[in-house]
Amino acid sequence: MASSSSSSPNLLTLILDITPSTWGQRKIIRSAKDKALAAKNKSSAGPATLMDDVLTAILALGVSFSCLNRDNALVVIAATEYEAAVIYPRKGGEGCMEDVVMGGSSGACGERVDAGLLNDYLRLGVAELINRAAERSEKLNAEQGNDKEKSQSSSTPNKGAVIASALSIALCTVNRFMVAHHAGVSALADTSYSSQRKDDEGILALMGGKSGSSKQQQQQAQNEARGMLSSRALIIQASQDRTSDYNALMNCAFAANKSDIVIDGCFIPSGVQEDPKSSPFMEQIVDQTKGVYLSVPSGAAQVGGALSEVLMSVFLPPPNIRSNMNLPKLNNVDFRARCFETGESIDVAQICNQCLSIFKVKPKDRCLTCGAKVKKRSSSTGGSKRLKVS
Ligand SMILES: [Zn+2]
Repeated sequence: MASSSSSSPNLLTLILDITPSTWGQRKIIRSAKDKALAAKNKSSAGPATLMDDVLTAILALGVSFSCLNRDNALVVIAATEYEAAVIYPRKGGEGCMEDVVMGGSSGACGERVDAGLLNDYLRLGVAELINRAAERSEKLNAEQGNDKEKSQSSSTPNKGAVIASALSIALCTVNRFMVAHHAGVSALADTSYSSQRKDDEGILALMGGKSGSSKQQQQQAQNEARGMLSSRALIIQASQDRTSDYNALMNCAFAANKSDIVIDGCFIPSGVQEDPKSSPFMEQIVDQTKGVYLSVPSGAAQVGGALSEVLMSVFLPPPNIRSNMNLPKLNNVDFRARCFETGESIDVAQICNQCLSIFKVKPKDRCLTCGAKVKKRSSSTGGSKRLKVS
């Protein structure tokens, strides 16, 4: 079983938070810290920078991942605070998505991940997205000058990368791969194939059931028996959670769980006291999909190639061999819902009866997520209800 599991192809969709404001701030902190340390003849102690440390680590992870199996496929999606886009494989570039999906039909070597192209497209894609984000924020700043009050109130909940959009793209990509590999059958239709199960798969399922392994492991064993691609997503986040994305993220997690897609999470903190040290949203979705979560220690673990080591030792092993490894465990997940406005954990909340958004304090005029009008509390049928959330 071990040899078959190590040889089955994998699809890794990597989601990278490249929010310019977050990484710009890191770069400033880093250069100030580095100067102070260099005066004492000490080497750098973080935080990681996007272009040097993080992209190098991702390249190392991507190339190592492709070395595990020549049929392994990699998709990289980058997200700023305004948009998310697939940066590898590159649309219109060499080695397009069709080649990756169908196994590099036009490639000379037949491998699905080209290290040279990965390096070029990753850097090019990140630079393009950052430029576009910078242009947009400049435009927004100019508009903000015009009507200060309006933009200040609307811009606060939308800090941070659009991880939910990126994760949706990732799941759609995974589905596309699955459809291509299952001869046109959607991955979503996959869980209900019991009626058309072949004989050997029936036995496999039976064996899996007897050994007491989880449904996920059984599914994976069946996938491997049929030579199917197993897929997972890895989110590398550095910004704070985007509170308005909570519902979308959770829906993605449920969808991923249903299709047996594992979501791993990696948070890179800045090391500054006021900044978040972890992502509560990511902890919840990783727990939901039984992935691995790691908040990278701040300091020397983020610089000089250490980040590559951390990422490779934690996130490189495929899910089916993780039970034999000593990987970080997610013990204290805070399952309390978060206020969509402030992002803080709450026990009792106001819930919008249109979109189910959760608020600590009842919005004054309109729901901040869907814009539904909040009715005045003249009767019991208000626009939002006060409920206990668990
Ligand atoms: Zn609403």
